[in-house]
Amino acid sequence: MSLILRNLAIALPAALISNGYLMIDGNRIAAIGAGNPPQTLIAQSLGATLQYPHIVDASHKLAIPGLINAHTHLEQTFMRGYSAGRSLLDWLHGYIWKLQAAMSLDDIRLACTLGMVEALRGGATTILQHFKLPYTHEHSDAVLQTAERLGVRLVLARGWADQGVNAESPASILADLERLFSQWHNGAGGRISIANGPLAPWRCSADTLQRTTGLARRHDAVTHCHMNETQAEVAMTVAAQAGQRPVEWFASLGLLGKDFHAVHGVWLSERERELLAQHGTTVTHCPAANMILASGMAPVPGLLAQGVNVALATDGPASNDGQDMIEMMRLAAYLGRVSTLDEQAMPPRQVLDMATAGGARALQRTDIGRLEAGAKADLVLLDMNAAHIQPAGNLLSALVYNACGSDVDTVFVNGRILMADKQVKVVDEDALLDECRERAAHLARRAGIPLD
Ligand SMILES: [Zn+2]
Repeated sequence: MSLILRNLAIALPAALISNGYLMIDGNRIAAIGAGNPPQTLIAQSLGATLQYPHIVDASHKLAIPGLINAHTHLEQTFMRGYSAGRSLLDWLHGYIWKLQAAMSLDDIRLACTLGMVEALRGGATTILQHFKLPYTHEHSDAVLQTAERLGVRLVLARGWADQGVNAESPASILADLERLFSQWHNGAGGRISIANGPLAPWRCSADTLQRTTGLARRHDAVTHCHMNETQAEVAMTVAAQAGQRPVEWFASLGLLGKDFHAVHGVWLSERERELLAQHGTTVTHCPAANMILASGMAPVPGLLAQGVNVALATDGPASNDGQDMIEMMRLAAYLGRVSTLDEQAMPPRQVLDMATAGGARALQRTDIGRLEAGAKADLVLLDMNAAHIQPAGNLLSALVYNACGSDVDTVFVNGRILMADKQVKVVDEDALLDECRERAAHLARRAGIPLD
């Protein structure tokens, strides 16, 4: 497919074009510029096989890189609404683990389809799915097949714990990771990849952490783990590891590096922050989940000032309760300011960078998270012609402070249109919602959770 969008605003990596054009050829961005597209490009697009009108007027639209949701648990779309008023550990024990254990394969397919549709509607084109239900091969394959079918870009971090509740044997974890790497890593034309996903330091042994991280490194894959989310969790590691805090313990095991994601990073000591910066480790910031579960405020402006890469994420729908990455940008901006009492903290460009290039750096990719010629055609067009946005003095400020997920108009992933004119093109959304309502109620009954 060759397509030229014209008369639109475009957020480049370090500048904004207020009126320009963008050409997509196949799965890549072929050209971007200010003003009208040159005649040579128009002639080139006319020569291609056309599935869509080859030149589209995109007046009042703002093109941004497809947002990278750097941490979620999509299956939790069937677990919304249980987090308010409960601590992290009460919520896990009383609700989430019971519901997860009762999920059938059909539940997983539907819940993940719903999560992916919601992600697209919130401007995300890449999703890092930290999957907590790996107990059968079929469950993880169902998630991967759903992403393959819908066309989103997905990283499945294979969740595991070899200690405590739902512990698996190290042999089973390693064998399943090896299987996933060989069957799925860099699959679907590079749209699907696999990561190592230990669930939390207090649920994992040193030996399995080292062996799985070594396996991931042999496959050029990342390792992704919840870290320092609450004070209670940090205290558990300190007690179990002879006084070492989680990041210190992981550093001593050789786990930190540019290929490691510390998800949350709310309660970090000065020493831990230095270790993250020294090793080039990413902190994945989940502002909504940290506020809903009253976990605390991650020191994001300070981490960025120290040179730590920060990616942005929704976390699972159970602790968010949504998947809207446009909203996450606004919350990250607000939280950055209130946590530092600095009105200059987290300007819109920095927030957008965290939601795009920050996520790409975390995934060690340079071909997504940016709009430039040669990059993958993962992009989102927002309709900025709305009463809650206009008149917009500065489009990046309007994006972060005014726009909502409902302003997402068109979504391209790998050059394919997954959503256009605010309609998702890859599923029958009304039928999906009907089916999800019915299945989620069945699931709650099977898990013994009372419905209001
Ligand atoms: Zn999480």
